[in-house]
Amino acid sequence: MTSSDRSFPEITEWVRTSCDPAQSRCHCGRDLRGDEVLGYLHDGGWMTNDGRMWLFIHCPACGYEMALWKMGVARDRDFRTLHYSEEQRLCDLAWAAPDPGGVRVITSRGRVS
Ligand SMILES: [Zn+2]
Repeated sequence: MTSSDRSFPEITEWVRTSCDPAQSRCHCGRDLRGDEVLGYLHDGGWMTNDGRMWLFIHCPACGYEMALWKMGVARDRDFRTLHYSEEQRLCDLAWAAPDPGGVRVITSRGRVS
């Protein structure tokens, strides 16, 4: 690991929830799902919101650097889409906000008085 490595919390979360459990183990036996995904700029890596990145997990137990493709992640997976799904989730939350209810309360109060 060097100081130029960046952390990718969204991809870390994706690996934790989406990676194949049968392929997520390090050589030492540790299940790497949930451990921090790191990356650095590399032409042969994956597309992310920060550009094309070589992505790997630095095993906290033995120090091995496990590239994501060794965990069954397709080399052509586009991790930029994670950004859009988060926007979609926030948009859904906005639609669920109970704003119309507040308007009805004000109207009924006016009728009562
Ligand atoms: Zn290990």
